[in-house]
Amino acid sequence: MHTDLVAALDIGGTKIAGALVDGHGRILLRAQRATPAREPGDTVMDAVADVLTELAASPLWRGVRAVGIGSAGPVDASTGSVSPVNIPGWRAYPLVERVRAATGGLPVELIGDGVAITAAEHWQGAARGHDNALCMVVSTGVGGGLVLGGRLHPGPTGNAGHIGHISVDLDGDPCPCGSRGCVERIASGPNIARRALEGGWRPGPDGDTSAAAVAAAARDGHPVAVASFERAARALAAGIAATATLVEIDIAVIGGGVGKAGDVLFTPLRAALAEYATLSFVQRLTVAPALMGTDAGLVGAAAAALTTTPPQPNARAAGV
Ligand SMILES: [Zn+2]
Repeated sequence: MHTDLVAALDIGGTKIAGALVDGHGRILLRAQRATPAREPGDTVMDAVADVLTELAASPLWRGVRAVGIGSAGPVDASTGSVSPVNIPGWRAYPLVERVRAATGGLPVELIGDGVAITAAEHWQGAARGHDNALCMVVSTGVGGGLVLGGRLHPGPTGNAGHIGHISVDLDGDPCPCGSRGCVERIASGPNIARRALEGGWRPGPDGDTSAAAVAAAARDGHPVAVASFERAARALAAGIAATATLVEIDIAVIGGGVGKAGDVLFTPLRAALAEYATLSFVQRLTVAPALMGTDAGLVGAAAAALTTTPPQPNARAAGV
């Protein structure tokens, strides 16, 4: 019987993934449903409950001691509620209470998805062994999280490290968050593609206007595509340098679809970091691609549950 087993949920706008994860981060069982993102909040919760019911049908479930949730944000861990931008039916939705009720009263740990991915990279990925790290997801949006002093730093509400919405361009374009010139407004995949199209780049015969297509064009030397990635790299570098100067991180890990662009992103990013991270105590800062794949959200949610709920020799876990 596993005594260090937790259930993990990774809740996003397209899918709700669940798993049973052991103390080594191994996924022992999976369940998944599409997110009915346009439906009322309780319908979305029904899909979460379906995932939990499927997991609970396993004999392994008797060893589960807690549930970790990594959710699209914003989340509010202080109240146990979530208001994901891309799930309009959930506004201040009491997710922790509902999951606790659906699991017979298990402890529930809620963090934002960027924080969850950070927990995974710190546990098993590119930030392993680093006591002070910023991990980022650069894809449709830009999220992130922090490890400080060797521990995950979710902050009071579970959103700390949300680097996508710090401003790096004081008079920049308005951002959907209400601010302007945010890292996300410049460096997200859709914004990389938008800027390339505005500059005159055109997709190939397949009509693919994604950031991945812009990255391919940049690798072929298309100057507008190269420039759009350089602009994104500068925005990321400014945000990373600011973070390093504030809290002395020594590594920034970049994942997500844009993070897969390789040298097209990382070469100008390292050059821009040398320009922005200038003080002696941030010059050792390195950047690295993320190592955790699509399971990062689940593994990170499990990590949060494992670290905040120490093993208890209760009747369930002991199999009595
Ligand atoms: Zn913003």
